[in-house]
Amino acid sequence: MQYPQWIWHNGTIKPWAEATTHVMSHALHYGSSVFEGIRSYDTPAGPVIFRLGDHARRLFASARIYEMAIPNTVDDINAACREVLRRNALTKAYLRPVAWRGLGGFGLSADTPVDVAVAAWQMGAYLGDGVLEQGIDACVSSWQRFAPNTIPAGAKAGGNYLSGQLVAREARRLGFGEGIALASTGLLSEGAGENLFLVFDGALHTTPVSAALLNGITRNTLMTLARDAGITVVERDLPREYLYLCDEVFMCGTAAEITPIRSVDGRQVGAGKAGPVTRRMQELFFGLFDGRTPDKYGWLDPVDA
Ligand code: PMP
Repeated sequence: MQYPQWIWHNGTIKPWAEATTHVMSHALHYGSSVFEGIRSYDTPAGPVIFRLGDHARRLFASARIYEMAIPNTVDDINAACREVLRRNALTKAYLRPVAWRGLGGFGLSADTPVDVAVAAWQMGAYLGDGVLEQGIDACVSSWQRFAPNTIPAGAKAGGNYLSGQLVAREARRLGFGEGIALASTGLLSEGAGENLFLVFDGALHTTPVSAALLNGITRNTLMTLARDAGITVVERDLPREYLYLCDEVFMCGTAAEITPIRSVDGRQVGAGKAGPVTRRMQELFFGLFDGRTPDKYGWLDPVDA
């Protein structure tokens, strides 16, 4: 990873190397951070941040679940995102706002101060070069997602990603591009860091928020774009074996964008390559950034606003 020069940390822009935190920070010991992943894109009208306001609001929603008082406003975070892009002269980048319980007090319920940072760096396809076209081979993980009323899947919190690391690392170790987790019910949940869509007879089927998943902003984007394009979208419980029976399957997320899955557990899915509905969703999604898909919902936030 090529580190950029500047980072936003507790209200000021500083050199990357100076954005440090204390080893006794609460978050380092207890996973008490909340964060976002956001992408910016180059468009004919200049660089934009995709659904910035929605991501910033989810950051505050995650913090609310954990009773963390972020000492900034949504507008501060939005402005910090724009500033790190401008200062680092980044256009097509990944942004990482993060808020964490810092130093002060000891113990699980300590009301420590909350530190905040926003980093941004140039990033290509998350799951590897060429995967958006070629797709990946995925596996169902031996690790399940957390059960309801244990760790809230609806918060994008640091601690949740211990689960994601087990799923992702197991998949890579076994030679797969990504892992798919089941919920504690045994039904499909989501990928290690991506939501999941299956295609049956031209319709999109995606797992419900009750299946221990993060309510993804890309997932919401695709459901909206698909419905607008006349494609049926069904949010429903999906058993594991439907991965082997569907016509197409893909993962989506800010980092993964729309990554086709060509096989699951060594079984070919459909034609073993990105299918027509997956390609249509890629066209609609990436069309937002080259002007082919109108920005009907005001999802593109100009960096130079
Ligand atoms: N699920 C998990 C566990 C994730 O970490 C992410 C995103 N990073 C997603 C789903 C997709 O969410 P979004 O589309 O909002 O990036």
